[in-house]
Amino acid sequence: DYTSFKRTVSDIEVSVYKGDITQQKADVVVNAANKKLEHMGGVAFAISKAGGKSIQEESRAYVRRHGTLHIGQAVHTGAGNMPCRFVVHTVGPMWDKRGDNGTARLQLREAITNVLYYACDKLQARSIAIPAISAGIYGVPVDVSAEQLMLATQKFVRSPPSNNTLRHIKFVNIEDKVNRVFVRVFSDNL
Ligand code: ADP
Repeated sequence: DYTSFKRTVSDIEVSVYKGDITQQKADVVVNAANKKLEHMGGVAFAISKAGGKSIQEESRAYVRRHGTLHIGQAVHTGAGNMPCRFVVHTVGPMWDKRGDNGTARLQLREAITNVLYYACDKLQARSIAIPAISAGIYGVPVDVSAEQLMLATQKFVRSPPSNNTLRHIKFVNIEDKVNRVFVRVFSDNL
């Protein structure tokens, strides 16, 4: 595992890291969840497995009480046995192979923006680890996911909110080829 990109803007270090998100010692680890918070595949399954059953139990309790999530919404649970403190769950958009996907792009950007604000407003987090939301089972092309995550991050770090607590924003990819795309997009644009 290794850091493959790093840049500091407004005192916030943004990095791209090749590794397993369940092993990150950040205050917050972000989950690519579904609307029902059933952690069945991809990152969600890995987080649920690494964290232990408390994450699934807290997720079930949340949905029972408040209903399902909408795309881009952020909610948190504890992290169970993982080395992070909280898991912030968000739901990315699904890709439509025949559509223009303008809405999907916007929703992806909004999801990351919401997650960054949530981490400051609700959790006073100093560090956050984020996976390639929607780039797996939800079918968004990796370069599109990287681009929208970069755009949301760029906007946040160029003008952080007055209550910003974040000092480290880390994009974590388990797959080499996904990580390479993130490095390219972030190093060209951030
Ligand atoms: P979605 O359902 O939003 O498409 P997925 O969980 O299917 O999300 O995949 C999102 C990305 O996370 C994919 O690039 C996948 O390779 C990656 N991924 C899967 N497991 C892990 C993990 N343990 N750590 C980091 N990234 C992971």
